[in-house]
Amino acid sequence: MSDDDELDPMRIEGLDARLVNVEKILPDVFDMYELRAPGGPYYWEALPHDQAVKLWNELGKFVAWRDSRYLTNLADPSYRLPGCWYRHPIAVEELTALMVAHRAAYDTRSAKASTALVDWHHRALWPTLDSLKLRAGMAGCRDRGEHREPRDGSKAFRMTEGYLRYGDMKS
Ligand SMILES: [Zn+2]
Repeated sequence: MSDDDELDPMRIEGLDARLVNVEKILPDVFDMYELRAPGGPYYWEALPHDQAVKLWNELGKFVAWRDSRYLTNLADPSYRLPGCWYRHPIAVEELTALMVAHRAAYDTRSAKASTALVDWHHRALWPTLDSLKLRAGMAGCRDRGEHREPRDGSKAFRMTEGYLRYGDMKS
């Protein structure tokens, strides 16, 4: 056995102190991970109630700003959102994604000049408007001036025994 392999009491003491520190912070680290919603802070499906309420408020403010800044200034009224947009799940998801992209583009920490804002307009804003007009099923509500459920009546997919068995056989 060489001298290097011998256990130095001073080193063990130092390691012991470090281990105590790690043990002290571990519960906080676990809490942090447990509090974090699975799927992230913008995934409606899994957000805890208080975080969903907060995000709902933020989305409302974002849509109000976007409406006054862009939509009400468009010549084509077919892009405008009906008042019931928030009852259309596709609109909620797409507008949430647009808000998140806006936050990233206008992040104050990135002070360096870049194409981020152009990208937000031309890769996020305008395509989202086109997509909502095309897919979100809101044209009827806007024209009627009242909300009607957007679904066509077909049932949404749910996981069945048959579905699970099929995956089991494939793997
Ligand atoms: Zn509607």
